[in-house]
Amino acid sequence: MYTQNSKEAFIEAKKVIPGGVDSPVRAFKSVGGTPIFIKSGKGAYLKDIDGNKYLDFVQSWGPLIFGHCDKTIEKAVLKSVKKGLSFGAPTKIETKLAEKICDLIEPINKIRFVSSGTEAVMSAIRLARGYTHRDDIIKFEGCYHGHSDSLLVQAGSGAVTFGTPSSPGVPADFTKHTLLAKYNDIKSVKKCFENSKNIACVIIEPIAGNMGLVPADIDFLKGLRELCDKHEALLIFDEVMSRFRASLRGATGLVGIKPDLITFGKVIGGGMPVGAFGGLEEVMDQLSPDGPVYQAGTLSGNPVAMHAGFAALGKITENHDIYEELEELANFLVSGLKREAKKFEISLQTNVRGSMFGFFFNEKEVKNFDDALKSDSKMFAKFHKGMLERGFYFACSQFETGFISTKIKEEDIERTIKAAAEVFKEIV
Ligand SMILES: *Cc1c(COP(=O)(O)O)cnc(C)c1O
Repeated sequence: MYTQNSKEAFIEAKKVIPGGVDSPVRAFKSVGGTPIFIKSGKGAYLKDIDGNKYLDFVQSWGPLIFGHCDKTIEKAVLKSVKKGLSFGAPTKIETKLAEKICDLIEPINKIRFVSSGTEAVMSAIRLARGYTHRDDIIKFEGCYHGHSDSLLVQAGSGAVTFGTPSSPGVPADFTKHTLLAKYNDIKSVKKCFENSKNIACVIIEPIAGNMGLVPADIDFLKGLRELCDKHEALLIFDEVMSRFRASLRGATGLVGIKPDLITFGKVIGGGMPVGAFGGLEEVMDQLSPDGPVYQAGTLSGNPVAMHAGFAALGKITENHDIYEELEELANFLVSGLKREAKKFEISLQTNVRGSMFGFFFNEKEVKNFDDALKSDSKMFAKFHKGMLERGFYFACSQFETGFISTKIKEEDIERTIKAAAEVFKEIV
């Protein structure tokens, strides 16, 4: 495969942008090689600046459930662009998108828009702290909630439950309020509640997508709800990735458990930068200007982004059986991968939720971050390279989720499985 233009573009980029990328996961660090520079996308495909074409299973890390250049979303965006890019004043489309989301999601009757998932989560946590007048939060190993200070934590040495910063630049004083628990392990959460009487909230990806795809057990989520109720802490579902990806009703719909706050992003912006957080009025009204908890944004609720999101959600509500179709394709893909891998005695662990799929090169079922870390990263890197060379664009880390868009067809998946069979043969 000829990728000289991408290689040169990466060298140029590195001179002026740290690592050559504006978000580290794009740099291909965990699989080696140079990232592909994209020229354009259309439907299910990406084109790079060397003229190579790829079937896209990344979809901008989740937002593009209708693939690239979806006509409805494109039209809505262009129409909005012509009326002005930003006003810093209220527009009716914000209310329309808010109404749509509140209608769809039962435990939410108010929502506020921001510009990224990071901002949404950061603000939801401030709100939970402001509402409960408590400082500590519980998060789970392997869950990603954006890059705000108090969420960049890892397990401290010795104690499981006290977080230490996972990045220089984050003061330990900021993360000492973040307690770490183990995903799918309710005992570890109980322990956190025993260690602190000052817990404002528990935040979780109910369908974890940032350690690979690892859905939470329903009983575990029920247990979280009970613990939060008992200790009067708020339960926050971070559904920046999973909402409108796994199903119309997301994790709350799938498991029938109601969190107090939900964070959104990715799909709700239709490809434009949007995040949001919502909950019941009683909590949400603590936000300024009505309440004392400060939160703001110059470009929050940007009209072009709101129109893109409204168009995407409009398409979803009109065609909500897409999730069954997408899930069928995702299952077709992972079962094919598993079958072909088995022929070469490669063990794959797979998960699917709606249009989300994940696979681990691992002999054992993956239920938490420790399990995920035992996966074979070298094997994944070889798989990734082999697939890329054959025109299949998978996320460049095993600890990411793959996505099916509505533009991907059964024959695309058949070709993918065939290519994977060739790659497995090459890499064993
Ligand atoms: C992507 C993601 C975020 C962060 O969103 P950004 O828009 O990248 O800031 C937060 N939480 C989850 C679960 C995510 O998948």
